[in-house]
Amino acid sequence: MENKPNTNPLKIFFIFLFCFGLITVGLAKEKVYKLKLATTWGSSATPLIDAAKNMAKYANELSNGRLIIRVDSSNKHKSPFGVFDMVKAGKYDIAHSTSYFWKGKDINTLPFTTMPFGLTAPEQYAWFYHGGGFELMQKVYKKHGMLSFPGGNTGVQMGGWFKNEIKSTEDLKGLKMRIPGFAGEIMSKLGVLVTNIAPGELYTSLERGTIDALEWVGPSMDISMGFHKIAPYYYTGWHEPAAETQFLVNIKKFKKLPKDLRHILVISMKTAAYDMYIQNYHMSAMAWDKMQKEIPNIKVKSLPKTVMTSLKKVNDELLEEISKDQPLLKEVLDSQNAYLKKVRKWTLMSDYLYLKDNLSE
Ligand code: CA
Repeated sequence: MENKPNTNPLKIFFIFLFCFGLITVGLAKEKVYKLKLATTWGSSATPLIDAAKNMAKYANELSNGRLIIRVDSSNKHKSPFGVFDMVKAGKYDIAHSTSYFWKGKDINTLPFTTMPFGLTAPEQYAWFYHGGGFELMQKVYKKHGMLSFPGGNTGVQMGGWFKNEIKSTEDLKGLKMRIPGFAGEIMSKLGVLVTNIAPGELYTSLERGTIDALEWVGPSMDISMGFHKIAPYYYTGWHEPAAETQFLVNIKKFKKLPKDLRHILVISMKTAAYDMYIQNYHMSAMAWDKMQKEIPNIKVKSLPKTVMTSLKKVNDELLEEISKDQPLLKEVLDSQNAYLKKVRKWTLMSDYLYLKDNLSE
């Protein structure tokens, strides 16, 4: 029998369609999405900058190279506190920063970093992901055209380095201290002369007596600053029990990503946030061990009960004052406080009692 060439036009059409489809799918799969991320932090601000870098790395790996995120530190874009506006305007697609920096632009952003006397890191993560915090954060950022995601936590920050011991609220009067944000406003009400000095000038300011005390973060980031060499009193924390950083994502840019890349971006941010939390925990543990060996006479102190009571009183008064005509802020603060009341009972029952009952000499 003679072999007849296959000339059925319909068959040829379908073969052509199939090949075209394969090429199209292939091309679609290969499309690379590029985003730009700006951080508030400088290029050497470990572990803060690592959260952004790790996030970009995970997004690249999980997407098989389809989602490329360029991370620009503030050394490059020169505008550490301009990242909110840059993402809002679409000049950058994502920022890594922290929410309370924007309280001057929108007071409702204040509670998503940390609040004095507020939730600890595990409690706050539980609030974000299971207690309605995440949804409230979107409600606040929506009008700025952004989504906001937890971006890594410092845990409890130390109360700061003081040259002299604080024995009463009287000792706070006239004290020159670098302490930014809401805690600074509280301190100011108690007579502290609050200043905000650039990080690079903090050591010399303390050394020369321009300031008598300062707060920074905790051992992980304090050690390289060297404050322990000049201000021997290291006070325990009250003002930033769970400072969370945030990824801010331009919502239009987010929506332009295919669905799978949106998921990859969200998972990458969540994973990088967790990494920063444990990286900082590790760094603080190692740094604290080293600091004690280097300078054995660092004096760890807690503020006296009377001072703490005064700080709490002023904190509550100020919060009432600022949220009086701010229904959304009030909604967020009420949500946090209601959650704290429930979750703290468990923290006291679990972590607190475990630590208390298992203290080794
Ligand atoms: Ca701090």
